[in-house]
Amino acid sequence: MARKKICCHYCGRNILVSTFAFSVVCPSCCQRLSVEDYIIKSYREVSGIDTCGTMLVTQKGDLRAKLRVRDLDIQGRVNGTVQASGKVTVAPNARLEGNITARALEVNEGAHLNGYLCIEPKNHKSNGSNGSNGKNNGH
Ligand SMILES: [Zn+2]
Repeated sequence: MARKKICCHYCGRNILVSTFAFSVVCPSCCQRLSVEDYIIKSYREVSGIDTCGTMLVTQKGDLRAKLRVRDLDIQGRVNGTVQASGKVTVAPNARLEGNITARALEVNEGAHLNGYLCIEPKNHKSNGSNGSNGKNNGH
């Protein structure tokens, strides 16, 4: 049976789950984790998506949400705060507006990127919320 490795948002533990699973309880911290993979193919506006799986926003995808994911692949548009425990990829002509925290970031030529970046190659667990409340570019 196919399995994939996910990383717990809460304690950072790696867990093997079935690719058919939609959620799992972390054996380490007992938090319930969504492990669903998302594909966004059209306009979608939600308050937030939280998954230990991956997300793909296709060319026609237009996502307005606060995201917490593992890997994020943007070919369309994303507007919101992104927190990725893995890699964020922004394809040519894709557009990302919002602050990004990720382990790795790949921006292709022609991609639009507007926001603050925080790239931390090590899976560093910062305690508490990010205290860097610098500028708030409100209108
Ligand atoms: Zn955990």
